[in-house]
Amino acid sequence: MTKVRFAPSPTGKLHVGNVRTAIFNYLFARKAGGTFVLRIDDTDVERSTQAFEDGIRADLTWLGISWDETFKQSERFDRYAAAAEKLKAKGLLYPCYETGDELDRKRRLQMANGRPPVYDRAALALSEAEKAAFEAEGRKPHWRFKLSGNPVEWDDMVRGHVSIETSSLSDPILIREDGSYLYTLPSVVDDIEADITHIIRGEDHTTNSGAQIEIFEALGGTPPLFGHQALLVGADGGKLSKRTGSLGIADLRDVDGLEPMAIMSLLARIGTSDPVDAFADVDGILEGFDLGKLSRSPARFDDEELKRVNAKLLHGMPYAVAKPRLVELGADKGEAVWEAVRPNLETLADVKAWAALIDGPVTPVIEDADYAAAAAEHLPDGELTGDSWSAWTNALKDATGRKGKMLFMPLRQMLTGEERGPEMAVLLPLIGREKILKRLAGEAA
Ligand code: GLU
Repeated sequence: MTKVRFAPSPTGKLHVGNVRTAIFNYLFARKAGGTFVLRIDDTDVERSTQAFEDGIRADLTWLGISWDETFKQSERFDRYAAAAEKLKAKGLLYPCYETGDELDRKRRLQMANGRPPVYDRAALALSEAEKAAFEAEGRKPHWRFKLSGNPVEWDDMVRGHVSIETSSLSDPILIREDGSYLYTLPSVVDDIEADITHIIRGEDHTTNSGAQIEIFEALGGTPPLFGHQALLVGADGGKLSKRTGSLGIADLRDVDGLEPMAIMSLLARIGTSDPVDAFADVDGILEGFDLGKLSRSPARFDDEELKRVNAKLLHGMPYAVAKPRLVELGADKGEAVWEAVRPNLETLADVKAWAALIDGPVTPVIEDADYAAAAAEHLPDGELTGDSWSAWTNALKDATGRKGKMLFMPLRQMLTGEERGPEMAVLLPLIGREKILKRLAGEAA
């Protein structure tokens, strides 16, 4: 049974970078008919807040990502303590008394001597008397996990064969002086106890995975399969732009007015061998979804591409899907108006501006009063329909000799006050004869 988890720390907002990990995990679970767990990594009680946690849950829900199970690490400290005891009993978790300054000094010395700044394991050699002396000084130990020094290898779902030389790593600190846990140990304990089968996360965790696989084994667990996706970069291959990097999902929703499925569609597809497309629902994305299609090089995230996907999504959105959102925006003008303005939308809220061209009042732009009079005179009789525009412009062409832009543009300006907008043939019956005649007469209507 496939079981995956997304494990954000509630010390900040969801943004395009970390939400991509959530999307991959969610899609992976859906595709396999498995379970998706939302784990809140709040062992850092100082920096974790309920507001960030609530925001993360709200943003995921808005994106359409639902979880089958959820729990918080702060409720499980007793489990982590039990695991720590188990590691201590095996001699794999050892107390260290160096201060931050002392560690810094060691690192600088190693580098000055051309050696890598790997922790020298001096603490392993401390006698009981030396430890007691440190304690008497008031020092509290931090605790390091003793790596094997052997290479750790696995077949990564994204990166293929990976080998981490643990001999070139510092033994990772699992518990700080104040007794708080870094993310490394709790994560493994939870992954074992929740029966997680696959860990899908960013490439920045690859080295951690080497150490964590050894912790899995030390605790008697079986390491899950791993997939480390390449991180996002900006459109030019450089760092994500400052705006995008710091922009939360909530900002994309509230400030940029984007559709959740536009964000999902783009983030699920960039950096894969499949083209980016606008998917109306998750089922569409799932069809071709396969972590094996992810490239090992960074995925380029482009704001402008996100806007294009958003527009494309709106252009294909049926009225029934748009309606509840339009009602919420106070912009529901019925199906005919939706159909008329939909091809011109960049964001859903644009409906308001385009619908205002129909509802008015519009201040007409009339540059040639004679042409306006001719236009009023030749407006087809009877009910205006989708064919009226061509009948009208044909008649005007014969009557005035105008053609092309000279024929069409003034009509658009007189009827809408704008130089561009939805198709005139579609707008005409929606504006209606009464308002058309008023606007042609120069009245704001
Ligand atoms: N809380 C960790 C993070 O956000 C979880 C990493 C993981 O997926 O194991 O980096």
